[in-house]
Amino acid sequence: MAGIYVHVPFCTQRCVYCDFYFTTTQHNYGVFSRALEAEIESYGNEFGDKEPIDTLYFGGGTPSLLPLDDLARIISAVNDHFDLSAVQEVTLEMNPEEAKPAYLRGLKDLGITRLSLGVQSFFDEDLRFMNRVHDAAQAEAAVEAVGSVFDSFTVDLIFGLPDQPFEYWGANLEKAIRLGAPHFSTYSLTVEEKTPLAKQVLRGLVEPATDDTMRDRFLFTMEYLTERGYDHYEVCSFAKADERSIHNQNYWRHRNYLGFGPSAHSFWKTTRSKAHRWSNVSNLKRYNGLLQQRALPLEEREQLTPTALSDEFIYLALRSMTEGLDLDRLEADYGVDMLTEKRSELAELEQNGLLTLRNNRILLTREGAVVADAVALELVG
Ligand code: SF4
Repeated sequence: MAGIYVHVPFCTQRCVYCDFYFTTTQHNYGVFSRALEAEIESYGNEFGDKEPIDTLYFGGGTPSLLPLDDLARIISAVNDHFDLSAVQEVTLEMNPEEAKPAYLRGLKDLGITRLSLGVQSFFDEDLRFMNRVHDAAQAEAAVEAVGSVFDSFTVDLIFGLPDQPFEYWGANLEKAIRLGAPHFSTYSLTVEEKTPLAKQVLRGLVEPATDDTMRDRFLFTMEYLTERGYDHYEVCSFAKADERSIHNQNYWRHRNYLGFGPSAHSFWKTTRSKAHRWSNVSNLKRYNGLLQQRALPLEEREQLTPTALSDEFIYLALRSMTEGLDLDRLEADYGVDMLTEKRSELAELEQNGLLTLRNNRILLTREGAVVADAVALELVG
């Protein structure tokens, strides 16, 4: 089974922290949809009969800006060129201002099964700081509207905004629970290079929250949500029973996926030791133009070395808080005997309370989840 990701690169305005590829000026949905259809057809010819597709994910950007007709064409192109007979989940990322009843019903009719709602905060001052389009009232109304049409959805929230009072974060979680959120994706505000936020920090206009504040917020989140019945199944993800994201779990399990659309990434493993990763151009005009000429919109393509492949598996698997890193699979599929090769690192990380070893699996503790990338860094290479 493999997954498909479709990157929809349109946004209404730029959120202050965002470093994804998107455009706020070229909103020619028809041209983009046709280019996407051509790309899907090309890859369908090469991969369509290799593995059935179990998850389809529309990310961005803001996929909920796409008219239903365009989404229908894209889904139908995927259906024409890939085997969707075993599909389990079709997710679409949505911003609260797009959560209108008719659009939501239209999405459901198209076969979308799960929404990812970019709420980020229920406080107007937070939303203004982040330069989100929606306000607090729209955020609340959107969760209600989505919940009235979809059983399955996630609410995205960001913690660690500069000067955000601690009570705001607790209130954000509480409100989403009260509104019936079956799943949370919680992210710390990260200052990414070349974003408006990075410029504000450089000019001294904004002081990012300290590492200690981030740690406190994250530990609070884990405790708060698990006490209220949400399963902490991935570093940033919490779900009620049967509400885990299948698409994202497939990334952490190192399954194959194809990415379509500008800036999308793909990963395809053909044998135990042979895998390729490639990415598309991060430019909508070039993307459309190349596909109009029947050329693939490739930016980069590389064959992963065995070490790069096993390192990637270690990074991804450690993100799963319930499955963790399966040491038997690491040895069988990637040829790495971690218990021997990283004996002293493992002992030190365990002693520092960052991981545990159970049933031949390495699992991050809550303190380990706070510094997940740093833990992984100790164990790769
Ligand atoms: S809506 Fe999403 S993709 Fe668009 S700028 Fe904001 S965070 Fe980035």
